[in-house]
Amino acid sequence: MGNVVLNLEMSKINEMKNYYGRQLLDKNIPGSVFAAKTPACMITAYKSGKVLFQGNDCEKEANKWSESTSTPGKKPAVAKVKSVAKGHLPFGIGEMSAIGSDEVGTGDFFGPITVVAAYVKKEDIPLLKELGVRDSKDLNDEKIIAIAKVIKGVVPFSLMTLKNEKYNQVQRSGMSQGKMKAILHNQAILNVLEKIAPAKPEAILIDQFVQPSTYFQHLKGQKVVVNKDVYFSTKAEGIHLAVAAASILARYAFIQYIDKLSEAAGFRIPKGAGAQVDVAAAKLILNKGRDILPTFVKLHFANTDKAIALVNKKQS
Ligand code: MG
Repeated sequence: MGNVVLNLEMSKINEMKNYYGRQLLDKNIPGSVFAAKTPACMITAYKSGKVLFQGNDCEKEANKWSESTSTPGKKPAVAKVKSVAKGHLPFGIGEMSAIGSDEVGTGDFFGPITVVAAYVKKEDIPLLKELGVRDSKDLNDEKIIAIAKVIKGVVPFSLMTLKNEKYNQVQRSGMSQGKMKAILHNQAILNVLEKIAPAKPEAILIDQFVQPSTYFQHLKGQKVVVNKDVYFSTKAEGIHLAVAAASILARYAFIQYIDKLSEAAGFRIPKGAGAQVDVAAAKLILNKGRDILPTFVKLHFANTDKAIALVNKKQS
């Protein structure tokens, strides 16, 4: 029986909690955020950010989430791995002509995953700065929409939207969210490379969501894998504007999709995975029936059961 410990940020741990949905255990372990059990692995996440994977297949399970892995007893490798990853970036990457890619929607119960790869030529960097392109986490939806409308005519990009129905289908078939994302990023980057040919980027920067080795592991079996000049970094939006632009365009697409879902639902669909989405999903079930759910939500999130419980409570 193996053990793997990861040190993760709380946002990642919350994402995991959603991911394990129905596999969550109703156990109150002191200091823990959640505990979950898959057929081959027991997972316990702690408030400290430590996540413990125990079981025969725990390494595989941990790889889905690892940005850095360490064995218990050894010093956590987080800081080291991060600085090494940053060190791998070519000097001056921020001023290069680059493709950047990022995704949105992975932690949202409602709506798809949207992935965008965007190409920013070095000559266009000042223009994009002028247009207000920067870390999208600092921008509200209104700003995102305004900037996206302008830059979508300026930067070549490719948007991949994994709609809920398809998402649920591949998730049920056993594909991890990490693998879905890797495939979408690779495809979006491929599309942009085709669009801009014969021009070539000096670098391709992916906002890191897994270890590079895991990323390429996920892409085994894909017809074409882009691996030349591919770099990974967390918080890559701050490293190259191409990633910031990709992030803004991905968020714009996600917002538009949520608008479409809201229209179909007849009420405002909330983002995120908090209690408000449970209430909205319950309302949706009461209005339209449970069969509508797969086209609106990511079914494996714990929110599904919570929504159904709310419906049952209302009906009893
Ligand atoms: Mg990202």
